[in-house]
Amino acid sequence: MSAWDDDTEQPVYADESIAAQVGMPLVEFWHLAGRDWQRVDVPLGEVEREVEDVGWYATGDPVQAMIGLLHGSSDVLVSRPEGRWRYGLVYVPASPVVVEDLTELRTAIDAVCTARRRTFRWCRYCRQPTPPEYRHEGDICMGCAESVLGVVH
Ligand SMILES: [Zn+2]
Repeated sequence: MSAWDDDTEQPVYADESIAAQVGMPLVEFWHLAGRDWQRVDVPLGEVEREVEDVGWYATGDPVQAMIGLLHGSSDVLVSRPEGRWRYGLVYVPASPVVVEDLTELRTAIDAVCTARRRTFRWCRYCRQPTPPEYRHEGDICMGCAESVLGVVH
């Protein structure tokens, strides 16, 4: 069974299956990529055709990075996540790059996380780091816009 056929995957098992697919011990994967990756469903039509047949994972709270595994390959796609509201919030890989030399995985993921964190703003009410997809406007998150300002989303 491939990593992306299993809907019941728990986070640690996602890490294990990613490490297995790219052919490295779990701890080495954690050193290079961090941990607690979770499978994300990227709706067809939200990404370029060439990355449709990729199993995508995301990490961070708020989400900071995505990696994608190509079926039958140890190459890893690394991407900045972009949150889009559809039937609910979905994360899509915004500009994936292929990492063939996995020793460069950490550098690639760190760059994506740094860029992504620059888009966070700290909400003036709850003071939580808030990515663009959860911002009502400026430095106000959607939750506080609803509970403090009475906005209905
Ligand atoms: Zn808030």
